[in-house]
Amino acid sequence: MNGKTESMVNKSNNKNKVIIIGAGLGGICTALRLSKIGYKVSIIEKNESLGGKITSFSSKGYKFDQGPSLITLPDYFDEFFKDIGENINEHIELIKLNPMCRYFFDDGNKVDYFSSLDLMKKELDKVGEDFQNFYNFLSIGAKIYELSDKTFLNFPMGRVPKNIKIGDLIKFPYLRTLMSYKSLVNKTFSSPKIKQIFERYPTYVGSSPENTPGMLFVIPYIEYAFGSWYIKGGIYKLIESLEKLLVENEVEIIKNCVVKNIQISNNKITGVETSKGQISTKIVINNTDISNLNKYKNQKLNENIDDYSLSGFVLMLGLKKKIDLKHHNIIFSKDYKKEFDDLFKRKKFPEDPTIYVCNPTATDESVAPQNCSNLFIMANSPATSNIWTDAEIELARNKVLNKLKKINIHLEKSIIDVEKIQTPNYFMNQHNSYGGSLYGKNSHGIKNSFFRHPNKEKTKGLYNVGGTTHPGGGTPTVIKSSKITTDLIKNDY
Ligand SMILES: Cc1cc2nc3c(=O)[nH]c(=O)nc-3n(C[C@H](O)[C@H](O)[C@H](O)COP(=O)(O)OP(=O)(O)OC[C@H]3O[C@@H](n4cnc5c(N)ncnc54)[C@H](O)[C@@H]3O)c2cc1C
Repeated sequence: MNGKTESMVNKSNNKNKVIIIGAGLGGICTALRLSKIGYKVSIIEKNESLGGKITSFSSKGYKFDQGPSLITLPDYFDEFFKDIGENINEHIELIKLNPMCRYFFDDGNKVDYFSSLDLMKKELDKVGEDFQNFYNFLSIGAKIYELSDKTFLNFPMGRVPKNIKIGDLIKFPYLRTLMSYKSLVNKTFSSPKIKQIFERYPTYVGSSPENTPGMLFVIPYIEYAFGSWYIKGGIYKLIESLEKLLVENEVEIIKNCVVKNIQISNNKITGVETSKGQISTKIVINNTDISNLNKYKNQKLNENIDDYSLSGFVLMLGLKKKIDLKHHNIIFSKDYKKEFDDLFKRKKFPEDPTIYVCNPTATDESVAPQNCSNLFIMANSPATSNIWTDAEIELARNKVLNKLKKINIHLEKSIIDVEKIQTPNYFMNQHNSYGGSLYGKNSHGIKNSFFRHPNKEKTKGLYNVGGTTHPGGGTPTVIKSSKITTDLIKNDY
């Protein structure tokens, strides 16, 4: 490689030199894990800042998280910090949210989704749902989670761990988990409102409740059992602390540099070609959307947009007043089936979108000026490589603002201090993700849900990590992905 980067990388022993393509959460966590055990790691990021989909934007004192806003499974974060010899509490402050979410329905009713069972029972009573049904959901979810945690969440794909007991396999609710997620919701609950709340969870991985298996009951279970959390100061604080640790651990960070090719000879990795030159190495980890792998290998891209998870339309608003909302809020569409058909069958931005509104100042005053709010509003939208026109953007924006009006939030021009919009095109260009999809391949069917792209390729020295690889998308699973990939490399080199 020309210039500084090659010479810095060459300081290391060739055997233990690792190049990571992409500084998303998976790339960063793997870099830290490997550097802690003696590997010389360089991380190459095409953007100016680290974090990939975890990114933030500030203007006039408003700070917006532009990606994740909900943290689940805090133990996975804790485990990661422990694995690298750090105490999580010295780096980030996690705050538990209760209620986890406020749901607004089209008929004017609302449900607060509490993490405490006594309060939750009252909410269930309000909409005529039997508490026993909620208990049944928790019981099915717990069984799925227990088995997932002993198998696929902690091990490379296809490896059956030695400590798995026959009892774990016998008590698994096979029949329920193999039916469609939507059927399982219908079988478990009776209240249409609770059904609507639960049907939304597959969209956490950009997928449809009709096409995902009941196994995905594990998503609402995890959220309920382990809580919904926020990082004080904003989710991007996580990346800021990890970047400091990368520097302390002498991980070389190469920003504004695009990896163009992965070089391979005799089925072994020999290096990478970047926009700043060539780097030789025997070990490469791809942390970018898995669809890029063929491009890096100069092979034909063989992807079908229909296999990809949803993207999103995002409106970020800095408002000169406080908004009476909880931290997480959902304003549902009137006809959820029609909305899913728009998204997954007609492949268009919904006629009547369900919108998610994150209102961080409900928990943390530090992320907006005094008596102001920083709303992050998102509606699901199909992944696409078509360019959104100005008219489409304006229409989507109006639909979102009309949805807010339905719950009596009227945002006149005069109170909008800051505004930023992101369409699927932004996610595609900024993160190099296929059609702007947020979670790689969708989770439709057992194969897509549980057989994600493997962490190790057939080419010697080539590995993957991140949300589009095993075990899947979302911040806690990406952290697990970094553990699995690190273990594979440790075993091989
Ligand atoms: C809007 C949104 C909301 C979300 N909400 C949540 C949530 O509430 N909770 C949750 O847990 N998860 C959420 N997620 C998902 C979560 O953010 C991701 O699963 C996770 O951050 C992905 O991490 P990753 O390791 O796969 O890397 P990515 O974030 O995909 O990062 C990949 C990096 O690779 C870089 N790159 C790409 N191509 C190249 C190249 N050729 N050369 C060099 N660098 C390259 C990119 O610039 C990027 O920095 C959300 C995501 C989005 C976008």
